[in-house]
Amino acid sequence: MVMADEILKEETLTADTASGNDAILKVENLKVYYKTHNGMFGKVGYVKAVDDVSFEIKKGEVFGIVGESGCGKSTLGKAICKLIEPTEGRVYFKGEEIAGYSRAQMRNIRKGIQMVFQDPYASLNPRMSIRDIVAEPLMIHDLAKGKEEIDKRVVELVRRVGLDAYHVNRYPHEFSGGQRQRIGIARALAVEPELIIADEPVSALDVSIQSQVLNLMNELKKELNLTYIFVAHDLSVVEHISDRVGVMYLGNFVEIGEKRKLYDNPCHPYTQALLSAVPIPDPRARKERIILEGNIPSALNPPSGCKFHTRCPKCMGICKEKVPKKTILEEGHEVYCHLYG
Ligand code: SF4
Repeated sequence: MVMADEILKEETLTADTASGNDAILKVENLKVYYKTHNGMFGKVGYVKAVDDVSFEIKKGEVFGIVGESGCGKSTLGKAICKLIEPTEGRVYFKGEEIAGYSRAQMRNIRKGIQMVFQDPYASLNPRMSIRDIVAEPLMIHDLAKGKEEIDKRVVELVRRVGLDAYHVNRYPHEFSGGQRQRIGIARALAVEPELIIADEPVSALDVSIQSQVLNLMNELKKELNLTYIFVAHDLSVVEHISDRVGVMYLGNFVEIGEKRKLYDNPCHPYTQALLSAVPIPDPRARKERIILEGNIPSALNPPSGCKFHTRCPKCMGICKEKVPKKTILEEGHEVYCHLYG
């Protein structure tokens, strides 16, 4: 969690950064199902990690995806850039349908879409120097030629993320968590991507370091006109970096809204519960905490109707039987709940 006074000056990415541009990414009915074999008779079941998800992102926008662990948010991020194979559905990147692309076809697309991972240590090869880690994508994609040009570009990149030129000869274990995340960002930037999918990029970092990395991502976004999908379980982190936020529960979005619309007027009971648990600087402004009963159910055997009905304090009869459809509350704010249908 990030404290308000440490965070980004509230010049965060306002709606005008996202307006007037076409969708850079469009996801339609995306599913990621894992087959399971159950017991002696080998009964086949499916873990529905991502279950028919659709959304789009405009160029220059930051789309935050939030939810408890196991809700499918990280799987969704990886399925978009095909680090995980989607089971069904379509993903359009700049109008090009990429969900069915082979590995070879994805090689070119990966220049446009890069991932930054949660654990900066696990995602950096401990046997490679920072120079080699950042140089690798430059060489794979033939973006710099010869040692001199590659070295020059590597130094530019590490400086751009706030490290010093002498750091390039060091190894990942010689850096702090925040510095390692900066190296992961430099590696992602090496191929000059347009879309960065950041999967819990600050979750493993201390609070003060979180705000530094978020500030860096914010600066880079403006300077390089990047688009982000920012996956996190922490609503306060997502609030400070996102233009729009989607709340996921058991493989589906339950509410998607422009940041202020969703945070000031959360409509889905799950969003309301998540937001009621976020610490706020002024305790007098605190709303009553909504405690959800039980844990998130298994995606192998999700509840019927509305998947949230087993924990919802406002559950009605219809909720156990019928899957709620999308209701548009106002432009830029939609919810999936029978209270509004
Ligand atoms: Fe709760 Fe029913 Fe809305 Fe689901 S559809 S969130 S169970 S009120």
